[in-house]
Amino acid sequence: MNSPLSAQHSTGEAPAIVLPEPHSIFLARAERFDALALHHSLGEWLGFVGRLSRAQHKALEAAGTDLTPPAAETLERARKHRIPPVSVATFQRPLVWHDILRNIVGDLLENAPIGARETLDALLVTSAEELDKLAEKQLNGEPERADMARLPYIAAAMQVVFTSIASQLDASALPLMEAHSTCPVCGSHPVVSVIRSEGPVAGLRYVHCTLCNTEWQVPHATCVSCGDQERVTLHEVDGDDGIARAESCGACESYMKLIVQGRNVRVDPIADDLASVALDVLVDDAGFVRSGPNYLLIGTEA
Ligand SMILES: [Zn+2]
Ligand SMILES: [Zn+2]
Repeated sequence: MNSPLSAQHSTGEAPAIVLPEPHSIFLARAERFDALALHHSLGEWLGFVGRLSRAQHKALEAAGTDLTPPAAETLERARKHRIPPVSVATFQRPLVWHDILRNIVGDLLENAPIGARETLDALLVTSAEELDKLAEKQLNGEPERADMARLPYIAAAMQVVFTSIASQLDASALPLMEAHSTCPVCGSHPVVSVIRSEGPVAGLRYVHCTLCNTEWQVPHATCVSCGDQERVTLHEVDGDDGIARAESCGACESYMKLIVQGRNVRVDPIADDLASVALDVLVDDAGFVRSGPNYLLIGTEA
């Protein structure tokens, strides 16, 4: 468990890895979605994903002690070999995730838009075996078109599972992975990077795991995908509020967004990413391919 007085905090030094705060991460995200939804052309959609975040918060709180990290020897072995200790590729998903999914779906059904209702109803009667297959496709496979509507909800439940487990690890005992784009906890890709503005991490850039909400430090002006520092270019939408920018790389032709917390202290990586889809269109049109997924990109059905 992480002690609030662990060495990395008491010295005031910026940690290389920041684990998620399980009691506030999804709630703060829901509030950020609510705020973004107020004056946005996609307000209804953002509001719905905000409700999904709030349902994730409730599901995580309800899961209590059902979600436990791997045994000490497994963690030590991962540290020694510098592999993610809760790797999506090998971690045995606890069966309680089915209940977490049902809790989230049940919450959303109370007041769901017509299009989403059909998908949510279908999820409630999907067999446990099929749910496990969908989870495997979401995390390790190539999702098929027919699964697309259901997968964001599967991913939402998986985010609860992996976030809870990540929050119980000891950040100071975790090594960074060789690639900037590999989460040191679960091995997933980052959704965006954030320039933090508060506390010992102020001014530093962290990337944010799309699955477990862990953040790890990556130097400024460095391509998160390939590490190139020569051909990195910033893009932003004209007349925008300056919160979201995109950093493209001429070496590997990928891009990742950069969320600037100094512009608004309440920014959230997942919410501010979805609220800035116009930026994705701009950088896609310039010929770059997005490097990390946002699992809550719910289709037009909502
Ligand atoms: Zn992760
Ligand atoms: Zn690159």
